[in-house]
Amino acid sequence: MEVHARLTAAARRAGRDPGGVRLVAVSKTVDLDRLRQALAAGQRLFGENYLQEAQRKIEALGPGVSWHFVGHLQTNKAKGAVALFDLIHSVDRLRLAQALNEAASKISKIQDILLQVNLAGEESKSGAALAEVPALIQHIRLLPNLRLLGLMTMPPFLPDPEAARPFFLALRELRDRLEQNGFGPLPELSMGMTGDFEAAVEEGATLVRVGTAVFGPRPRKT
Ligand SMILES: *Cc1c(COP(=O)(O)O)cnc(C)c1O
Repeated sequence: MEVHARLTAAARRAGRDPGGVRLVAVSKTVDLDRLRQALAAGQRLFGENYLQEAQRKIEALGPGVSWHFVGHLQTNKAKGAVALFDLIHSVDRLRLAQALNEAASKISKIQDILLQVNLAGEESKSGAALAEVPALIQHIRLLPNLRLLGLMTMPPFLPDPEAARPFFLALRELRDRLEQNGFGPLPELSMGMTGDFEAAVEEGATLVRVGTAVFGPRPRKT
């Protein structure tokens, strides 16, 4: 897959082991045939944004596939998300973390999560504000059925891929500071999409969420 070659090259440029970067193929609105093709080509990790759509695909593709939730998650959907996903990238508030913890506890699951951070302070975007992050992590660490593995960010949309780089660097530096101050370990950094995943890998991404470059332009949601 072309995206893999670009990922590997970006990791090498940064002196990183390409094995330390996982490609989450973001498959929202992509139909089952395209998903099966990707699966046949060796892709085993997919990212979805909508619960019902994901459930249909997860049932259709069967075992041996890992699914991550990358979209905005409503608290009343916590139960469904916990039932379906290995990793939830978009936890950004305590209420949601508590709902996920409760849902996970009911099915005796330890749910892996990432904390989504809104680094640019954009009003319109999900993600915890920078100032809230330490307290949020402290609270999340006390929830026995959640395992916090790292941070996720979505930089402001800018056409120039290099414009996102400072946000990727900022997420890695935030992670490093948090670990130095006893909030770690936070090994995973989910950052980078089709337009900017190479810059994200150069800045330390361990999970890149790539849709369009894997599947082609998305059909519109109907
Ligand atoms: C859709 C989506 C992606 C993938 O976007 P592309 O630009 O198609 O690569 C990544 N992350 C999130 C949270 C998304 O919603």
